[in-house]
Amino acid sequence: MSLENICLNPVGHVVSSIKISREMPAGGVPAAIEILPQYESALLRIEENSHIWILSWFHQSDRNKLVTPPGVNHDLPEYGVFALRSASRPNPIAISIAKLLKREGNRLILDKLDAVDNTPVIDIKPYFENDIIFSPRTSYIPGNNREYRQNQMLRRAIAHHQEECLHLQLAVRMAMVAEEIFGHLNNPDLNVSVRGSACLADTIQGLSRARLANPPRFSFVPSITVQQTNWDLADKGTLTLTWLGQSDFMELADEDFLNIDFEN
Ligand SMILES: [Zn+2]
Repeated sequence: MSLENICLNPVGHVVSSIKISREMPAGGVPAAIEILPQYESALLRIEENSHIWILSWFHQSDRNKLVTPPGVNHDLPEYGVFALRSASRPNPIAISIAKLLKREGNRLILDKLDAVDNTPVIDIKPYFENDIIFSPRTSYIPGNNREYRQNQMLRRAIAHHQEECLHLQLAVRMAMVAEEIFGHLNNPDLNVSVRGSACLADTIQGLSRARLANPPRFSFVPSITVQQTNWDLADKGTLTLTWLGQSDFMELADEDFLNIDFEN
């Protein structure tokens, strides 16, 4: 075998309602993977895992592009493709995490996948606890419109908190306001405190990646009478957001359901 040429045999393909990549919503749609019969026994016990990695081959991608602005925001500077999840790269291997809802013989039914119908699947691996780094240092690549950013924030919140409850939604909207003032919420110098429900605190911790120690960025005081978050960044200011109590706020403007107090 030469190092110049590596031969991969697809093990299956994606079954999705989306046929064209530009029609794929961010985060994907419900989908399945159909494994070829000769590989079916490789699925033995896969249903013991709630989440799996899917490696697929984006065969329509540009393999010559080495630098590009991020696809979610062309106003940002260029990055090398190895510093992005761009589909364009020398070997167009896509990596996705999906929730494995069930296995039906050689079919894996997934909550969501961002690969179009018939995409070749080259490998599947279980998502392990060891895969988690709670607060990694990452590039800050915000989408260029608020709806997109809110959807991304909502996805991350659900991935962390695992239920889309009212106070998760409140945490998302509060984190949106904080992000627009402070930028990247996973900032080792941004201190976060929550007074309110456990659901609000848990989701805010997941979105800000603020740990209790090393460095100490997070604190929580349980309360049933107030739902409030406080964000503090030296040199920038202090933001306090207090919920005014309405439900159905996802369509409302920030100031219609939050008291916003910013001091710099
Ligand atoms: Zn909850």
